[in-house]
Amino acid sequence: MSDRRKFLKNTILSSVLILPGTVSSAMSLNGFKKREKHKPLILSTWNHGMAANDKAWEVLGETGSIVDAVEKGVMVTESDLKNLSVGLQGLPDREGIVTLDASIMKGDGSCGSVCFVRQVKHPISLARKVMEDTPHVMLAGEGARQFAIQEGFPIEEEKMSPAAEKAYIKWKEKSEYKPIINIENHDTIGMIGLDENGNLAGSCTTSGLAYKMHGRVGDSPIIGAGLYVDNEVGAATATGLGESIIKVCGSFLIVELMRQGRTPQEACEEAVKRLIRKNKGIDGIQAGFLAMNKDGEHGAYAVHPGFNFAMHHKGGKALVDSKSKF
Ligand code: ASP
Repeated sequence: MSDRRKFLKNTILSSVLILPGTVSSAMSLNGFKKREKHKPLILSTWNHGMAANDKAWEVLGETGSIVDAVEKGVMVTESDLKNLSVGLQGLPDREGIVTLDASIMKGDGSCGSVCFVRQVKHPISLARKVMEDTPHVMLAGEGARQFAIQEGFPIEEEKMSPAAEKAYIKWKEKSEYKPIINIENHDTIGMIGLDENGNLAGSCTTSGLAYKMHGRVGDSPIIGAGLYVDNEVGAATATGLGESIIKVCGSFLIVELMRQGRTPQEACEEAVKRLIRKNKGIDGIQAGFLAMNKDGEHGAYAVHPGFNFAMHHKGGKALVDSKSKF
């Protein structure tokens, strides 16, 4: 990104922080540095989070429901035909089949997820159905698809999007079997939100790692890895190489670190450090975390530069670059 664009982005964010009448204040009157707090607050991974947050913010305003907001918000990304890492238009597995993973969680501990599911345009809504209408937490593969049919979800034709097909044909020239994570942009969308009354919810949805083995499931549908929410403490979500995130129960770890008194930023940094220790050869892979606590403070941290997140609150909205370890 050019320096000018970076400067403009930072300026927009700074102006957000000093708007009068918001819950936020970077500095108190006596000059003592206070931590930024917002209620309501919606955060999402990557720049596709901006459009998703717009929708979530609108839904929160209309319904007052933070779980509706995080579901409807990420549905925007699931429907975005330009997005190659979320939804049925995403990049396929090694066999040329697109399989989706998604999870949703509320601050009271209710949660639902689907993984390795085919032909369902909105896996996040299917995950919500699992949460609300079954005694289970997770449905996989054909079972999840059958549940979708039973619940009246439309079943889409199994056909790669033109952009995904083009990329897949190119990949097949070498068929290099190596997890490829784009460390610059566009990945899973993980969204976490806090309403005015202190209720939290989160959602996470992805087409997963491009050219993965058929049957591979990442962190995104695994409660505690790609997403964790607890009204007593806060919420966290993850993006990047799912295997590295699962190994440290990344999102659960962050919430537990916050429970022990860490700020969201400190907790994200500690989780990245743990992830690096537990994953040899981390150099080539990206993973990032996003978190908020119940007071409306937030944090983000990644292994490598390039991770960013969308932030919406009463004072405005911004796309923010995360700090990183390397
Ligand atoms: N976390 C996802 C996965 O491993 C990948 C991503 O963030 O795009 O499936």
